[in-house]
Amino acid sequence: MSARTRSINLAVIPGDGIGPEVVEQGLKVLNAVLPQDVKLETTEYDFGARRYHATGETLTDADTEALKGHDAILLGAIGDPSVPSGVLERGFLLKLRFAFDHHVNLRPSKLLPGVATPLAGQPEIDFVVVREGTEGPYTGNGGTIRKGTPHEVATEVSVNTAYGVERVVRDAFERATARPRKKLALIHKNNVLAYAGHLWTDVFHRVAAEYPEVTTEYMHVDAATIYLVTQPERFDVIVTDNLFGDIITDLAAAVSGGIGVAASGNINPSRAFPSMFEPVHGSAPDIAGQGKADPTATVLSVALLLRHLGYETEAARVEEAVAADLGGRGTAARTTEEIGDALAARV
Ligand code: ATP
Ligand code: MG
Repeated sequence: MSARTRSINLAVIPGDGIGPEVVEQGLKVLNAVLPQDVKLETTEYDFGARRYHATGETLTDADTEALKGHDAILLGAIGDPSVPSGVLERGFLLKLRFAFDHHVNLRPSKLLPGVATPLAGQPEIDFVVVREGTEGPYTGNGGTIRKGTPHEVATEVSVNTAYGVERVVRDAFERATARPRKKLALIHKNNVLAYAGHLWTDVFHRVAAEYPEVTTEYMHVDAATIYLVTQPERFDVIVTDNLFGDIITDLAAAVSGGIGVAASGNINPSRAFPSMFEPVHGSAPDIAGQGKADPTATVLSVALLLRHLGYETEAARVEEAVAADLGGRGTAARTTEEIGDALAARV
């Protein structure tokens, strides 16, 4: 997006489960694709279950300070059944997202040739979801009264600010402008969620006036789940709130090749803080250490990372390598390392 540097100072967080296995392949491909004169420096951080069990820490202020010094972060996966649910999500992932103001959660969905989809035929799926990352129901606003009684009341407040909505809507328009089809869909539920829905819709229309070349549409989230299955080719760029984005991107991943190929970026477009790139999947403890994990999602996350740092040519080369590899993969099962080697050789 902005001028590229001649060095990349990368924070690497292998994390838990299959995280270290897939990150190793991602780094292999990154090393292979970078021009010789670009210096890649990596620093590994041990966040995740092991650190939590050893010290009780998830992410300290000193950790955040250390991470600030990097150009970008590559994450494998954080999470393990041995850690109570929510501890690492809130203590690491959400904490970092708020500390670095990762307000754009970017999740591309592209069905590559030769990749199986549960949909009929081989629809042309190539869209990107821009999910708001720091507001909506994810701010921890709410509470419980009369807890444990039959009259318990729980509230979970969705926070939507003009500032927060506008910056993510603007980012989505910028991304739509840069794509050939230049289409942008706002997904919300403004018929029921009147206050937040109208803020989103008003901001969307106001910003749209500045981008006359972008074709826009509005869709309720429930209708969107239908169209993502019946007409996924109609989407180009989608912008939506934090919770709707969480749900529809999992659906999008399911129809466009599955969790093994779904990449994501937690982005601060201003680059005031490092952005973090990670596969959508989790630590998959059920297959950890067996060489069965598909590193493709991590490799595609590396492509997003490269593009974010201004290495467009290299990003495209990684994506082309993945497309060629998936097309030629056939039915033969390959190990995590074999796939990583094949992709590194292709770039
Ligand atoms: P989290 O809570 O961290 O999101 P999860 O249990 O919801 O974790 P995943 O860890 O993503 O979900 O795993 C879901 C299923 O998908 C598991 O059965 C796992 O084996 C499989 N899976 C996840 N990632 C991969 C991958 N890269 N390659 C192959 N299978 C995978
Ligand atoms: Mg999950």
